[in-house]
Amino acid sequence: MEIAIDDASRREICRNPSTAPRMQATHDDRLDQPMKWRSARQSSNIEDRRGMRPVRKAGGLGLGGIIVVVVIGLLLGKNPLEMLGLVAQMQGGSSGGGTVDQPVGPAPGNDEARQFVASILGESEDIWRQIFSASGSQYQDAALVMFSGQVQSACGTADAAVGPFYCPGDRKVYLDTSFFEQMRTRLGGGGDFAEAYVIAHEIGHHVQTLTGTTRQVQEARRRGQSVEGADGPLVRQELQADCFAGVWAYHAQQRHRWLEAGDIEEALSTASAIGDDRLQRQARGTVVPDSFTHGSSAQRVRWFKRGFESGQAGQCDTFSARDL
Ligand SMILES: [Zn+2]
Repeated sequence: MEIAIDDASRREICRNPSTAPRMQATHDDRLDQPMKWRSARQSSNIEDRRGMRPVRKAGGLGLGGIIVVVVIGLLLGKNPLEMLGLVAQMQGGSSGGGTVDQPVGPAPGNDEARQFVASILGESEDIWRQIFSASGSQYQDAALVMFSGQVQSACGTADAAVGPFYCPGDRKVYLDTSFFEQMRTRLGGGGDFAEAYVIAHEIGHHVQTLTGTTRQVQEARRRGQSVEGADGPLVRQELQADCFAGVWAYHAQQRHRWLEAGDIEEALSTASAIGDDRLQRQARGTVVPDSFTHGSSAQRVRWFKRGFESGQAGQCDTFSARDL
């Protein structure tokens, strides 16, 4: 498997279920649910930014600071303008134009929601490390950012309404856990395994970044090639992420036997609930295939199953498939 650095900063907005009022996630009922997720190793790659908001960094040096830099520059015999430029670069940071997430409320604890997300992420790390090393390469972990309301990413500022997404620019998955609540109440999905599937799909995009697929799609877009449409590269990319989620589910089941009857159906009903055709029907009452980016509900189910039944990432070549 070829590993490629991908510095592009396009955000993978994976689901846009609604712009409905946000509901606070409460996962108190999780213990009653069947999936035995607690047997997985909890990842340490969680960034818990719940209770934080993006704010612009206090900018600029101020007049006093500028004078100090200019004087130091002159004393050192350097061009003061160059030095000011350097200082500005250092302050600006590399992402988000100087916007950072800062706490506006109490820090969240190590609650049920966090433990669940860390367990699913940990399980995905263990599985993808194995798959990568079996093909002679090394898996690099992604971080997962939990947030509430709004968050700053290398792909820009995002709010909960965009749904979970993966940002190739900083190789992080962004997850507002209130999305799970929306899945239960509005999308007809929900439940532990369906939630795990959402995370596994986003990690699927991370795998695509590591293998260079994300970059290829972005380059096609840059060349002016149309990437949208019902059988375009964007749909193929999404369906491959679903297939990778299926591969993950296969191995997780081999390792833990943690799924029970009904769990897979639950995930598939979520996949079909968030297919583009159904989302569009809900939003506009008609289906417009040209603007598909995720594939239809039936396609998502088909590719998830393909990964789940084989357990092999090689079965997920949506890009050369004639029929999706
Ligand atoms: Zn996606």
